[in-house]
Amino acid sequence: MDMWPIVDLPSLASDVKRLQASADSDAGRIHQLERRVTQLTLACAALWQLVKKTSDLSEVDLQAAIDHALATNANIPGDMSPRPLFCPACDHKLPPNSTRCLYCGAAIPQQNHVA
Ligand SMILES: [Zn+2]
Repeated sequence: MDMWPIVDLPSLASDVKRLQASADSDAGRIHQLERRVTQLTLACAALWQLVKKTSDLSEVDLQAAIDHALATNANIPGDMSPRPLFCPACDHKLPPNSTRCLYCGAAIPQQNHVA
């Protein structure tokens, strides 16, 4: 007598095959993305070495530029960290949800605030 009369075994096997193929495909994509992140990290490090060699810019300047790029560009998928807030008049970094710039007193428009 069948112990599992309501289980459609061929359909279940097909589901398992489909899920395994999907998992294999995801693993391949993750591997490609990891390679890409490594390549981009190395490219950034190489560019920074060139910039340091040929300019007076410092690590502080680099960090400020990175902070500004993160604050002003499109959302990074999956990134839940709050965006730094910058004054639209003097470009100083400000505490989150500031309504006035601590440095120059300019009003901070509401759209600059982190949701
Ligand atoms: Zn300001």
